[in-house]
Amino acid sequence: MPRRPYIAGNWKMFKTISETHQYVGDLVPRIADATGDVDVSICVPFTALGAAMAAKNDSGLKVCAQNMHQEDEGAFTGEVSPRMLTELGIHGVVLGHSERRQLFGETDRALQEKVPAALANGLEPILCVGETEEARDAGETKAVLERQLQADLAEVGPTDLARVVIAYEPIWAIGTGRTATPDQAEEALAFIRDVVRQRAAAADQLRILYGGSVKPENAAELLGREEIDGALVGGASLDAGSFAEIVEAAG
Ligand code: PEP
Repeated sequence: MPRRPYIAGNWKMFKTISETHQYVGDLVPRIADATGDVDVSICVPFTALGAAMAAKNDSGLKVCAQNMHQEDEGAFTGEVSPRMLTELGIHGVVLGHSERRQLFGETDRALQEKVPAALANGLEPILCVGETEEARDAGETKAVLERQLQADLAEVGPTDLARVVIAYEPIWAIGTGRTATPDQAEEALAFIRDVVRQRAAAADQLRILYGGSVKPENAAELLGREEIDGALVGGASLDAGSFAEIVEAAG
């Protein structure tokens, strides 16, 4: 069965509640035709989750968080639990984004618990993996990806693996305007699928996205590649018109 394309917009720390209402009101009609064929989500700050859910109403747009703690509750000041997210009715959660790994000390050890915790709570994880520029230059891209995948998916059973979405995000391409070439992206995605295949035949159903300076101008070329099931879009997702153009390119 062909994998359904998936375009996810990562807002990072942008947009207030009122800006969220405005954006979603603008986006929903623009993507109405495409959501028959393409999964579309916006991954918004915690404070905007409720507003995004209310504004999307019964449209096909999905709403995701950008992080979560692995425990249901506890003395973890400043954290948000899977149960708190599911109560809002949201669809999924981004885990292991490179900004969280690099700026906030997110570890593979924590991700090993977060990915199964998301699945156990009915949240679709978008697990981000990717190498630094130094690692790529040193020819270590595959070693880095394999290490991250083996660690982060260690506690996910073979039947659950197909429910994980993986985003390959080379760190040197995030927010830099430098995009991986379609060949570079496709090579990394094929490698990721091979690594997952060692654990589960369901690897063929798993969706693997590319992320890193995707914009309307390069989306069609990237999304036209067989291995690339969709995109995790940062900067270009902040404008509803640009994001809708990228969704269009995936349809
Ligand atoms: C991201 O934040 O996941 C991302 C890919 O950002 P950008 O598209 O801005 O490079």
